[in-house]
Amino acid sequence: MRSLIDTHAHLYVGRFADDIEQVLARAAEAGVEAVVIPATKPQEFQPALQLAKRFPQIHVAIGVHPHHAAEIADSDLDQVQELLQQGNGIAVGEIGLDYHYDFAPRPRQHEVFRRQLQIAKAVGLPAVIHNRESDEDVLRILEEEQDGSLRFQLHCFSSGMDVLEQAVGLGGMISFTGNITFSKGALDEVVRAVPDDRIMIETDAPYMTPIPHRGKRNEPAFVELVAQKMAELRGTTLQEIMTTTTANAKRFFQLMLLLMMLACVPAVAQQSATSNRQPPADISSLTLPLPASPADSVTARAKPSEPYEKWFGFGGHFASTSIISGSLTDANAVPGYGIWLSGTPLRSLDVHWLQLDLTYTQSRNTILYDTTYTNVTGKEFAPPNDHQQFGFNFRFTGNPMSVINLHASLGLTYFRNSYGLEQWLVEEVRDTNYKEFVETGLGLSGAFGIAINIKTPFGIVAPTAEWYVSKIMSERVLPRRKTEFFLSQPRLGLLFYPAFSKLW
Ligand SMILES: [Zn+2]
Ligand SMILES: [Zn+2]
Repeated sequence: MRSLIDTHAHLYVGRFADDIEQVLARAAEAGVEAVVIPATKPQEFQPALQLAKRFPQIHVAIGVHPHHAAEIADSDLDQVQELLQQGNGIAVGEIGLDYHYDFAPRPRQHEVFRRQLQIAKAVGLPAVIHNRESDEDVLRILEEEQDGSLRFQLHCFSSGMDVLEQAVGLGGMISFTGNITFSKGALDEVVRAVPDDRIMIETDAPYMTPIPHRGKRNEPAFVELVAQKMAELRGTTLQEIMTTTTANAKRFFQLMLLLMMLACVPAVAQQSATSNRQPPADISSLTLPLPASPADSVTARAKPSEPYEKWFGFGGHFASTSIISGSLTDANAVPGYGIWLSGTPLRSLDVHWLQLDLTYTQSRNTILYDTTYTNVTGKEFAPPNDHQQFGFNFRFTGNPMSVINLHASLGLTYFRNSYGLEQWLVEEVRDTNYKEFVETGLGLSGAFGIAINIKTPFGIVAPTAEWYVSKIMSERVLPRRKTEFFLSQPRLGLLFYPAFSKLW
């Protein structure tokens, strides 16, 4: 199915005043089903909103561009918030920094940018961000404002790989314009590197006209040329790029509900026309009303994209195991070490709070090993005592979007305790058939813990600590122990969730 979304076009400017209908007709013919038009200053708010009222495929972003940061009053920013709260507009934008023109003093640009990021978080809408020659400060401010609830798109991306990695790490979406067709290969590497779920396309009309229309006014129909070039660079098909970028734009701008409602109008009209045995209504002549208020879709809005997104992680841990039994307390804490695998089985369904932990811990009771025993024949020996433990736990994180995560987990544990020396068993269990005494058991386990997410260019490194407690129901036990006992095990682990794992 042909479907494209132009996520950035300034269609309210004078250059489109005479032929906006034809421009949108050409866009529809090219498969463009929605266009996001970002305002850049208060004078453009109403013209943009008017255009969206006339054409249901147009959606508005409300915001003040860095070019106008010095000329606006703070009350204009209050107006941005008010308009959005009243359901006018689907995003805050375009906002950001522009050090190429420096039309406003930089401290003022920072102030206006930051305030509008805060508005985006307050109203729960995404932000469309303009960045020209201001990589460092844009990233710094985004990082400072990213508390897990900020959703943003870097529009007209034209920076390097390091900026891309940091922006993606902060949960950002990346949108490309016609500049990928005329940048002489400078952007090829970043176009290839953007993860599938973060990439979008736009025209930035009337600017940034793609090849072969350079020199002419840009328009939404040309977004297909951006998609075409992107397909070429990423070694895939135009269809694939259309599917991916459209799905991303719908999810990011929450267009799904709006488009569904619009799609229902002609369907219902047609259905009622047919049931009345009248000739079907000419759908193209129907004026499609805008949904009553886009704010209605606020309740249906999905959770913001997760800044500490995890798919699969691995690492190691140190533990300290104590067996607490009714008849005997092996009060000595036995040092152990092991591996820790952690993944989010439902991540593809956007579930952030659930992880699956698989752990293996090996501990050796060195204290017991240091003790010598005397067996029935009077011979001294030291029994080695090894604990092996497999854990399979569901980890529930209460605040997955925060830097510091608190979690509780619940699952199953398999426990194996082996004593390797025959002589000792002769004395202790009086059973000469055993070369080795093995105690095994299955149990329920639970844990409380804390993890810290540290972002690196390669993925997330998460020091994790938890207190892991198991109740073991043993099948074969030592005579001195009850068949049920507890294991108490504080664990200190280091997990690594590589960025590439989400592509698996
Ligand atoms: Zn821009
Ligand atoms: Zn723009």
